[in-house]
Amino acid sequence: MRPIELTPLFASLQSLTGIGPRLILLMRKCVNLPAGITEPRVLDLLWHLPTGVVDRRAEPAIAEAVPGSIATLKVRVLKHKPPPRGNNRAPYKVQVEDDTGKLDLVFFHAERKFIERQLPVGEERYVSGRVERYSDKLQMSHPDYIVPPEARGDLPMLEPVYPLTAGLSGKIVQKATRQALERLRPVPEWQEATWIKARAWPDFSDALQRLHKPTDGADVSAGGAPWQRLAYDELLAGQIALALVRQNFKSRPGRIVKGDGSLRAKLADALPFALTNAQREAMREIEADMGAPRRMLRLLQGDVGSGKTVVALLAMAIAVEAGGQAALMAPTEVLARQHLETIGPLADKAGLRVGLLTGREKGRGRKDILDRLASGDIDIIIGTHALFQADVVFRDLAFAVIDEQHRFGVHQRLQLQSKGNGSGTDVLVMTATPIPRTLVMTHYGDLDVSRLTEKPPGRKPIVTKKIPTGKMEKLVERLRTQLADGAQVYWVCPLIESSEVSELAAAEERHAHLVQLFGKENVGLLHGGMQDKAKDAAMEAFSSGQLKILVATTVIEVGVNVPNANIMVIEHAERFGLAQLHQLRGRVGRGTRESYCMLLYKAPLGETAKARLEMMEETEDGFLIAEKDLELRGGGEVLGARQSGAPGFRVAEVPGFEALLTAARDDARLLLAADPMLASPRGQALRTLLYIFECDEAVRLFRAA
Ligand code: ADP
Ligand code: MG
Repeated sequence: MRPIELTPLFASLQSLTGIGPRLILLMRKCVNLPAGITEPRVLDLLWHLPTGVVDRRAEPAIAEAVPGSIATLKVRVLKHKPPPRGNNRAPYKVQVEDDTGKLDLVFFHAERKFIERQLPVGEERYVSGRVERYSDKLQMSHPDYIVPPEARGDLPMLEPVYPLTAGLSGKIVQKATRQALERLRPVPEWQEATWIKARAWPDFSDALQRLHKPTDGADVSAGGAPWQRLAYDELLAGQIALALVRQNFKSRPGRIVKGDGSLRAKLADALPFALTNAQREAMREIEADMGAPRRMLRLLQGDVGSGKTVVALLAMAIAVEAGGQAALMAPTEVLARQHLETIGPLADKAGLRVGLLTGREKGRGRKDILDRLASGDIDIIIGTHALFQADVVFRDLAFAVIDEQHRFGVHQRLQLQSKGNGSGTDVLVMTATPIPRTLVMTHYGDLDVSRLTEKPPGRKPIVTKKIPTGKMEKLVERLRTQLADGAQVYWVCPLIESSEVSELAAAEERHAHLVQLFGKENVGLLHGGMQDKAKDAAMEAFSSGQLKILVATTVIEVGVNVPNANIMVIEHAERFGLAQLHQLRGRVGRGTRESYCMLLYKAPLGETAKARLEMMEETEDGFLIAEKDLELRGGGEVLGARQSGAPGFRVAEVPGFEALLTAARDDARLLLAADPMLASPRGQALRTLLYIFECDEAVRLFRAA
């Protein structure tokens, strides 16, 4: 159960005074919510950290005020100077003074009543804002604050600046945040005393207080003590949660899944090629894991096209040889079908019975699949998260493959595993994202890793070139020649941040343009907003060669296999991350044709974008690219994770991330070795930490154990 002192933090933001449904909508837009949470809570606001401060501490006399700077002035109101009648453009001015001089407060489009109420003639006020010189006079237009002397304490002398959205003012966020801070109850210290002392880190509540009510500009810097402390808290929570999941996997007995090799031999016969060394090595590792009396949790990493699917199929065959069933879960419908197309014919030849279960299977068809799964009539089921639904029951799920592409998390992995019949389903996670080793542990914990570093033989290099948008005509000419020669082209349209609508519009516009150039019958369109049927039809038409050019938003990133497609055009390539570019490029170069990747960019290129595109020109090695990407970002975000909608960190992306992460991993390891049940006083305190960072799933494992 979540500790009671945290309850106020998990209440809806609406429980704060002044926050109603309208503001909630705006808050939802600008605070970063964890996956699955739609209604922002008090805690989410506390994690909405300032990007800087406005310093109002200068309190000069009027004569000493420096034009251009922010100042807080103590003044007397002298007189009001409303604009002349009939001139709406002229501002409303209020002249104020102190013993050293005079200054005008200036209001455009003023609400007269408001000004009269705020600034009664003859009274004293504190005003804070930017001082300006206008001809030979000093003025302050639209002061940020106007308060009477008795309310001087309400003036934020160091005012935090928050990321905002249209309609949501900094003042509203500040006010709400102050209330949120009052909801903090004392929590036990979960960090080691010597560790925080050495770094002069504040305790948890102090850290939040100092970030939201800074008393020093350095307080809100991501390199400052308060932020660093919270970053470490988050990383430690993550590392402990992952270690617990893993510990749980290991502590519960797994089953020995051993086959006689008969199905694998049939599959090998059916395959038109020999396995690469990397594939063979991965199979050896997987076979050893499955055959051991513990649970398997292994990550299979390999570039798109490196042959992961074949490995998955052979591994699933082991489970079936051993008398069990296997499941392969894909992140999207399209991918699930693609897997079925690849695996189906091979499986048929080996006598494996394969089924498909996605959100689209309904009614009679779905029931039929469920019956056959329960009776053991299906050996291998391929599907989407439809496989999680409660009424999906296996006769004996021995092995699950999760084709991840960033779309699942620890939670889903636990869920699918729970579909096993209690004796411990082995799990293989596949990812096409070449995550650098340092980051594997952040996102997956300390699990076993197999890497397919070598491409299947016979692949030709993909010629990659960056081209300024200005040269699009030349590109079009070259495409014409290529198309005449039987080429097929993917044309990926710009990624536009946070606006699906305009992303779609851009794709439609490009589609129309290319239709004009190449003819309606040759150019298709594929985007996320299309109906499943229309999507399939477009894919099918491209796949069969009927369409020559497929204009697409980034939906194709998640994986389609059209071996004949040999040209990838990426518009506004400068807006994509390296990992995404790499994944997109992986869609071509699968057949026998010479392949090309054209990176269209809008000049001038920023330095980082330039480095990215040049890296793409230089190499096709996904692991190298991933390391470079990490270097360019210098942060903890997994490559492309943000673009593809995976939940990132709340506060951990700070300078020094990697060092903090390594420390957190070691800390978690030592800690769990000494206190595997988190029963010690520090262990108990850490449970609170896990709840704060919403790793409840991990805490729950104690009860399951
Ligand atoms: P991934 O799942 O890693 O993207 P796939 O398993 O889909 O890659 O393989 C990509 C293509 O390479 C498929 O057409 C597959 O048949 C082929 N392939 C896989 N392994 C080999 C191999 N050892 N030799 C030749 N071709 C292979
Ligand atoms: Mg594949």
